[in-house]
Amino acid sequence: MPKVYPIVKYGDPVLETPAEPVTVFDGALKQLVEDMFESMYAAHGVGLAAPQIGIGKRIAVIDVTFKEDPKAKLVLVNPEIIRTDGKQRSNEGCLSLPDFREQVSRARHAAIRAQDETGKWYEKDSGDNELLARAFQHEIDHLHGRLYISHLSALKRDLMRRKIKKLMKAGEWM
Ligand SMILES: [Zn+2]
Repeated sequence: MPKVYPIVKYGDPVLETPAEPVTVFDGALKQLVEDMFESMYAAHGVGLAAPQIGIGKRIAVIDVTFKEDPKAKLVLVNPEIIRTDGKQRSNEGCLSLPDFREQVSRARHAAIRAQDETGKWYEKDSGDNELLARAFQHEIDHLHGRLYISHLSALKRDLMRRKIKKLMKAGEWM
């Protein structure tokens, strides 16, 4: 049975610490990847990075179709962005920042190189799928210890931080 992990929220240092590369491709990694998909779906997300479940490893999972297309399930182990092109600006959310959405500028196209859960390297281009391009950039940011709020203006970022502090004080965060 896959395990559903609770999602770590903004404020936990694991989210702002660069994750460590994966070097062992074993059964435990396969299980973790399965658990990450389960945890992502349970939280109604289309992407999840391992630091978001408290694991500081360079692993992310993405399914921008949210279960519609099994072939859309992507496992990104040790991923890197190898190409970006163009610009897009639209609303972005993050499971670690629940109930917030902000306009974030990203590249319109992105291609990555990553390993799957067996250690095999592959390349994937977002093509015309802007949501996938955004997901690549968002999840790989997580593995560098970066959240989307770092892409906002200082003014917007401070406003968001203040709102979150209020929620923390009220016990409505964590
Ligand atoms: Zn996120």
